[in-house]
Amino acid sequence: MEMQYIINRINEGNSTVVVDGAHFNQFNFQELPNSSIIFQENCLKKLVTYIKNTRNYKKEYGCFLYGKVIANNTIYIEDFGIDFASEKINVQPTKENVEELKQKVNLYNTKGRQYDCVVHFHTHPNLESSGYLPKQISDQDLFAYGILQNNFQLSNMGITYYIGCLMSDSSNGIQMSCVYYDNTGENFYLIQDLFYEDSKKQIKKIDFNNFDIVETRRWNFKPFYK
Ligand SMILES: [Zn+2]
Repeated sequence: MEMQYIINRINEGNSTVVVDGAHFNQFNFQELPNSSIIFQENCLKKLVTYIKNTRNYKKEYGCFLYGKVIANNTIYIEDFGIDFASEKINVQPTKENVEELKQKVNLYNTKGRQYDCVVHFHTHPNLESSGYLPKQISDQDLFAYGILQNNFQLSNMGITYYIGCLMSDSSNGIQMSCVYYDNTGENFYLIQDLFYEDSKKQIKKIDFNNFDIVETRRWNFKPFYK
């Protein structure tokens, strides 16, 4: 399976196409140069709740998050939307999610657009026993991120950047990855550095190698849900 196959499906623009399998490891993608994402504390708290539920109920959770490109390849995320609709295991954005997205990316403040960046976030449960590789992003996920970048440019005030974010549960713990589809160069990139901003406005690295939702003492940042 070549990446070009998925990019061709993205360029066809038919969002109902199903692309099967998980052929690519996003951690091997080329890094978007000097890229980072900073999640505001409340947003990270939301993601932690999702992954806890994912572990408890063995199904996916997700939502859109919203933010702004604050410097070259640096994104600050400060808001999140309603939950994606849950099917048996998978989640899908619904009409309500998309309507909310349209409203949010058209918000303005005194400095212009409030949000020009949308994170498509979802979790993958640990289904290793069924041969499922939780670390690996699915082809359908990549396809969805590409469709968003190509087909969901909603504002006349400039480009909206869509980031795909996956948090997965595995026997090795929790992992999180963020990818960006550059539709000008037709390539997927990994955004390597993930931070959060605490209530004192301190920026701290999220180290998901040590992320553990069972033994909170092993977290390298303070658990939010105490
Ligand atoms: Zn997925």
